[in-house]
Amino acid sequence: MNTVLDTVVIGGGAMGSAAAWALSRRGRQVTLVEQFGPGHKIGASHGATRNLNPGYHRPEYVAMLAEGLALWDELEQESGKQLLARTGIVNHGPGGDLRRVSDALTAAGIRAEFLDPAEAHERWRGIRFDQQVLHMPDGGQLNPEAALPAFQRLASARGAEIRHHTKLVDFEVFDDGVRLTLESAAGTEVVTAAQAVVTAGGWTEKLLEMASGRVSGKDGAAIRIPRLRVTQEQPAHFRVADAGAVWPGFNHYPGPDYRGWYSPVYGMQTPGEGIKAGWHGVGPVVDPDHRDFRPEPTQLAALQDYARQWLPGVDPDDLEAISCTYTTTPDEDFILDRMGPVVIGAGFSGHGFKFTPVVGRILADLATGTRPAPSIFRASR
Ligand SMILES: Cc1cc2nc3c(=O)[nH]c(=O)nc-3n(C[C@H](O)[C@H](O)[C@H](O)COP(=O)(O)OP(=O)(O)OC[C@H]3O[C@@H](n4cnc5c(N)ncnc54)[C@H](O)[C@@H]3O)c2cc1C
Repeated sequence: MNTVLDTVVIGGGAMGSAAAWALSRRGRQVTLVEQFGPGHKIGASHGATRNLNPGYHRPEYVAMLAEGLALWDELEQESGKQLLARTGIVNHGPGGDLRRVSDALTAAGIRAEFLDPAEAHERWRGIRFDQQVLHMPDGGQLNPEAALPAFQRLASARGAEIRHHTKLVDFEVFDDGVRLTLESAAGTEVVTAAQAVVTAGGWTEKLLEMASGRVSGKDGAAIRIPRLRVTQEQPAHFRVADAGAVWPGFNHYPGPDYRGWYSPVYGMQTPGEGIKAGWHGVGPVVDPDHRDFRPEPTQLAALQDYARQWLPGVDPDDLEAISCTYTTTPDEDFILDRMGPVVIGAGFSGHGFKFTPVVGRILADLATGTRPAPSIFRASR
């Protein structure tokens, strides 16, 4: 049976859910297909916390931060749910370009102030500081477990169809549309659609390799994007040892002489679960369909050492590891682009969640031809 649809969004993680929300607000008839069930823990958008860390200085990201803060507010009003806990964010350490960040944020009207280590420790005694600290009060923690259902609920209230347990297994591209083969408990179905929005996270390359037919007017041409590296990341929740401590989100940037560090460390409090801390983008490269979900022990031990030295407010020996995927581009900038009837949102490189509603807006712009994405996100860069 061949069903004719308008726009099919492939992947119901953060970015696909936001694309469905943004497109449905523009009156597009959207069908979102997701291979797993609601709230699954197999991709990159599960769990109760993500940092909205304003620590950027490049103009494209700073503009997206400002727009994002307004859109998260709007989403909270529209959904009636609190999605952002405004705890503030503190960035510290010899790395991190804090001065440039502070200047860029201040120029954009996003608050940023420097504190000396003693003052910072007095306010947040669960964290040890030895350098100047950049405090950004407009940052905080976003809650994916509330945000994804909110996007999907608002989209379906505007007519979008949300189909979980529905997997795309074949993908043909034509000048004027796409033909998709979907598998679900109901069987196999072939649908045609005017457009497809591919927001498939760690599965993006597999999906685009499936895409055959005419791309950009050429038969058999492939959809080319920068290489994506899919890694299994393993932050951990540490048990709170100091119940009275107040926790902002935090990012700690090492200097060249810092021993035993894999990368900068990010962290935040997840209510009821503890203090999350993690290395950034250094997990083992994996095939998203063949993961072991087990933490790499050496990195985990190093993370405990980090907590022992820099997080006096936690018990470094009482922790629970988390497993999650990053999909990283060579320059860590996102891919937001369109090729004929196919719109792509991929390569969020471990820092995409804070920008989710803005990514939704950009993907909807690309799908409706309203305006192009900033050039740093072009696939052909
Ligand atoms: C440990 C960790 C910590 C992070 N911390 C932060 C943070 O503090 N701040 C921040 O801003 N960002 C953070 N991020 C990044 C952020 O979570 C991601 O950028 C974001 O969630 C990516 O969303 P996505 O929709 O691209 O991917 P995903 O959530 O993986 O969604 C892709 C979806 O596509 C579906 N799919 C794939 N193939 C098919 C198919 N064939 N058919 C149907 N469905 C399919 C998958 O099942 C999946 O649900 C973190 C990420 C991780 C892993």
